[in-house]
Amino acid sequence: MERLEEHFEICPYCDTLTLVEGIEEGERVCCTKCGSTLTFIIKNPIKIPFIYACVSVFLFVCSELLPFLGITKMGITANMTLMETATSMFVDNYEFLAVFIYCNMQLFPILCLFCIIFVYGCILLKKSDNLMAKKLIKLFFHLKEWSMVEVFMIAILVSMVKLVSMVELQIGDGFITFCLFLFFYVKTVSSVDKNYIWSKLTKLNNKHAIFNDLKKHIGQYAGENNLILCTNCNSINHISDKRCYLCKSKIDVRKKNSIQKCLALAIAATIMLIPANVFPIMITSSMGKNSAATIFEGIIFMWDTGAYHIALIIFIASIMVPIFKIAVLLALCYSVTKQKNAKLKIKTKLYGITEFIGKWSMVDVFVVAVLSALIKMGKVLSIYPGTASLSFCATVILTMLAANSFDPRTLWSDVK
Ligand SMILES: [Zn+2]
Ligand SMILES: [Zn+2]
Repeated sequence: MERLEEHFEICPYCDTLTLVEGIEEGERVCCTKCGSTLTFIIKNPIKIPFIYACVSVFLFVCSELLPFLGITKMGITANMTLMETATSMFVDNYEFLAVFIYCNMQLFPILCLFCIIFVYGCILLKKSDNLMAKKLIKLFFHLKEWSMVEVFMIAILVSMVKLVSMVELQIGDGFITFCLFLFFYVKTVSSVDKNYIWSKLTKLNNKHAIFNDLKKHIGQYAGENNLILCTNCNSINHISDKRCYLCKSKIDVRKKNSIQKCLALAIAATIMLIPANVFPIMITSSMGKNSAATIFEGIIFMWDTGAYHIALIIFIASIMVPIFKIAVLLALCYSVTKQKNAKLKIKTKLYGITEFIGKWSMVDVFVVAVLSALIKMGKVLSIYPGTASLSFCATVILTMLAANSFDPRTLWSDVK
């Protein structure tokens, strides 16, 4: 039975120093002040992620090689592979979108899995004090935020519903393996806990000189007691340390200029929302006639044709989510400077939600990618991305960067 012995932790959301009594497999510990999860250990915490990651890689290779989706209209057949969702954007001269989509739905997820296989493989082989493993686990946590396989899956389902009325749809074996891949990928990624994995990678935990002194600060803010959390490995360092004593990353009491950066990025995202909603996101060419649709027109079209659930998904993902994210981030920046100490728990929850929903607004851009990759039947029926897909993608990236640059600990305590 795996367990984590008694140790100290600083909450990454509210900066409170907590003493975590030993936890065992299947247990989870939450911060007493803000409620966010501090540490968890799943059942079989080393073997399960390793096996799931290996299975995921195998299924991913199958999805890449096998035919993914096919359509038939008026005797003409068109097929697409998974890779073509990115490469067709390249052909349509949307190079930036092509690279972004390729990275988010293929490169980053697969790199995440390789990181897991290497790191967990090292632990299983009892070679855990490995410099490469430490570098890769840091990389994993960065890439994980930008991997969007789940969002891509929703986009495929939305595209399929849109297509059913227009063409005859054939589901390839690649699609089935992709569904299985998604299941194992999500299981793998969600089973990794930062504290637990770092406790496996290093035997030094809790051996910093400051630990003798920590008990008297339990429940207090770390920053106010000269303690710094390393956000890469969750270890506790002293304010005089320039680099983390465990993982050697650069450390700071708070993210630098977090409010200014967050504000600038949120405003830039708001500006990008204008072209994203004014210009067409998708251009359909059917029997020589071109018709362009903006995000909103697409929603109304789906509603009118009776696909209420799809209209609702796109409305929530493309209109509600970006506006909600920007509004919450602006309100949080305001509250750090003006309304201190009010409803801190709710504000931290709201920040957690903006972090979580960040990537879900990409659904519509992925739908355009899937449709324009699949529907290339010359004059009969062809779909191309519109300029708004680029501006909308920029909005999503900017809001994600804005949420990343905001430091929720500044809500709780004021340490510069
Ligand atoms: Zn907390
Ligand atoms: Zn560290």
